[in-house]
Amino acid sequence: MADCCDHGQADTGIGQRGGIAGFVDYLLARPETRLTLVGGGGVLLTLLASRTLALPGLWIFSAYTLALMIALWPVARSGLDALRHRRAFNINLLMTIAALGAIALGEFLEAAAVVILFSLGEALEGYNMGRTRASLRSLMQLAPALALRLQDGQESQVPVADLRLDDRVLVRAGDRIPVDAVVLDGYSDINQASLTGESLPRPVGPGDEVYAGTINAAGGLEVKVTRLAQDSAISRIIRMVAEAQETRAQSWRTIDRFASIYTPLAALLALLVATVPPLFFGQPLLNEGGSVGWIYRGLALLVIACPCALVISTPVTVISAINAAARHGVLIKGGVYLELLGRIRTIAFDKTGTLTTNQPGITGLYSLDCRDEEDICHECEDVLALAAAVERGSSHPFAQAIRARSNALHLTDRYATATQVTALAGRGVQGYVNDQLVTLGSHVLFENEHPHPQALCDMIAETENRGETAVLLCDGARVRGYISLADEPRENASEAIEALHDLGLRTVILTGDNQQAANVIGAMVGVRDVRAGLLPEDKLDAVRDLEASGHPVAMVGDGINDTPALSAASLGIAPGGIGSDQALESADVVLMADDLSQLPFAIRLGRRALSTIRNNIVLSLSMKAAFLVLAVTGGASLWAAIVADVGLTLVVTLNSMRLLRAR
Ligand code: ADP
Ligand code: MG
Repeated sequence: MADCCDHGQADTGIGQRGGIAGFVDYLLARPETRLTLVGGGGVLLTLLASRTLALPGLWIFSAYTLALMIALWPVARSGLDALRHRRAFNINLLMTIAALGAIALGEFLEAAAVVILFSLGEALEGYNMGRTRASLRSLMQLAPALALRLQDGQESQVPVADLRLDDRVLVRAGDRIPVDAVVLDGYSDINQASLTGESLPRPVGPGDEVYAGTINAAGGLEVKVTRLAQDSAISRIIRMVAEAQETRAQSWRTIDRFASIYTPLAALLALLVATVPPLFFGQPLLNEGGSVGWIYRGLALLVIACPCALVISTPVTVISAINAAARHGVLIKGGVYLELLGRIRTIAFDKTGTLTTNQPGITGLYSLDCRDEEDICHECEDVLALAAAVERGSSHPFAQAIRARSNALHLTDRYATATQVTALAGRGVQGYVNDQLVTLGSHVLFENEHPHPQALCDMIAETENRGETAVLLCDGARVRGYISLADEPRENASEAIEALHDLGLRTVILTGDNQQAANVIGAMVGVRDVRAGLLPEDKLDAVRDLEASGHPVAMVGDGINDTPALSAASLGIAPGGIGSDQALESADVVLMADDLSQLPFAIRLGRRALSTIRNNIVLSLSMKAAFLVLAVTGGASLWAAIVADVGLTLVVTLNSMRLLRAR
C-alpha cells in the first residue's frame, strides 16, 4: 500500500480538541510536519527577500534549495526506506522525484507547493484516521474506574481492577454500574442505552444481571461481581470493535491491491511522457515561450499518480460505520460483515428466542396419570417438577419458562438436578435423574422414540392447532405427559420486520417448532414464508437453498440450536447479545438490545457504507482521469495537481466520516 496512507496506529497525537485547533495540535506534535513548516517558512522568506532585495541569483537559488530540502527530507526518507526495505515504489518517492524535478527546472514555488501541500494532506489523513479510531474512546469511557466495595460492613472505594468475583459492591442511584454483576438487594431501573442502544430503562431486582457502563437510574443496589473488570461485556465489546477495525473489508483490500499496481504504472507513464515526445517527436523538453515542456508534464503526472484519496476513503468509511454501529448497540465484527449487511437481500429468522421472547408462557400441564380434570393435580405437578430437574441444565427459552413455573409452584425440591444433561438440538433435552434417563422434547422426537397412547397424540394435535407447542416428558420407563407453551413475539418484532420489508428484503422463518405454532408467530410479526419442523441440519439446508439465489443471506438466531445455519449463512446475526456470551463470541454481527429494532438500522448503515465507498471511488477515479488528460496536454500545473489531490482526499475523508454520526 502507498505509504502516505499507511498510518498504522495513528491514534498517537490525537488530543481531545477537535476541528482546526485539534488539527494544529496534531501538526505541531508530528516531527515530520514541523520540518515541513520550517522549510515552508524558509521558502516564504526567500520569496520575500527575492522580491524586495536585489540579491544575486545564486543566493536565491541556494536559499530556495536549502529550504526545500528541509521540507522534503521526511518525505524523501520515507520513500527511500520503502524502496530499500520493502522494494516498494511508493507515493513518497513519487513526490520526492516530482519535487526534485521541479527544483531542477527552477520552479521553486511549484516544488514548495508540492512538498508542503502533500505533507499537510498526509497529516490530515493521519489526523482524520486517528479521530475516527478515537471515536471508540467514547465507549471506553463508559465504565467507571472506581467501585464502592462492601466488606465486613465497611464501604471502601477501590479501583474496579481490584474487584474479585463474588465481591459485594454498592451502586448508588444515578451511578454508573462499575462491573458486570448480579443484583443481591434493591430494586431499580437500569438505563442500558450506552451498551445496547435501547432507550427504555430496564427494571431490575434481586437475581437480575446488570452490566458495567450502564446507569443505575432509580434506587440504590447491592450487587455481587460476576465477571472481572477485564471480562465485562463492555470490555469485550471494546476489544472486538478494536479488532474489527483492523480486519479489512473486501473493497479495502481490492483498493490496496489496485494502488500497488496503479502507483508504479503511473510513474512509468510519467517517465514515458517526459521522455518519448522530446526524444522521438522533436517536442520541447523544457518550457519554452508559451508551450509547456514535456518534463513538466511528466512531473504533473507524478503528482496525479498519488492514490491517496482512493486508499484512505475505504478504511475511514469502514471504521466510521463500525464505530457508529457500536455506539448504537450493534457490534459488527469486521469490514467484511459491514459490506455484507449492505448486500444481503434475504434474512432468515429462527423463531423461538429470536422472533419470540425468552420467556414463553406455560399454558397447560397434563399427566397421563391425572386424577383431577378440574385442577392441577399432584401428578400433573410432578411432570413439571421432573421436567424442571432436567431443564436446570438447559439454556433454551422453554427451559427458562419451565424452571420459572416450577419455582413458582415450589416444586424444586422434589427431584435432584439432572446430571449429564445433553441438548438434543432442535428436538429436546435429556439428562439423568435418580439414574433414570429422562427425556423432554417435541412430539416429532417422541413419535420416533417413545411410544405413547393415541389419546395423547390427539390432545397434542389439539394443542398445536391452537398455535401452542407441546413438550413431552418420558421418565426413562414410560411417557408421563406433556407441558404446553405459547410464546409471544418480541417487542418491536413486527415493526422491525415491516422496516425490513420496506428496505426490500425478503424474510423467512426457520423453526424447529410445529407448523401451526410457527404460523401463529409468522402472522403476528408479518413473515409469510414459514418453514417449520426443521432440525438444525434442515435449517442449514434451508439457508443453503436461500443462498442459491446468488445473493448473500443473513441468518438471525440465538445460537442455541442454530449454530450450523448461522455459520452456513453469509452473515450470522445474534439478537440480545448482551445477555449471551455465546452470541457475543460466535456471531458476525451482534444486536445488543433485547429486541430486533436494530436490524433495519444495521442494514441501512451497511448500505450507506457501501454507497459511500462507491461514490468516493467514482469521484477519485474521475478526478484522476480528468487531471491525467490535463497533465498530458499541458493544461495542469503542479500547483493545480497537488491542490486537487489534497482537496480530493479531504472531501472523500469528510464524506466517509459522516457515517460516524449515522443513526
Ligand atoms: P426454534 O427453531 O424455533 O428456535 P428449537 O429448535 O429451539 O426451536 O426447538 C424446536 C423444538 O424442540 C421445540 O419446539 C421443543 O419442542 C423442542 N425443544 C428443544 N429444546 C428443548 C428444551 N430444552 N426443552 C424442551 N423442549 C425443547
Ligand atoms: Mg431458537
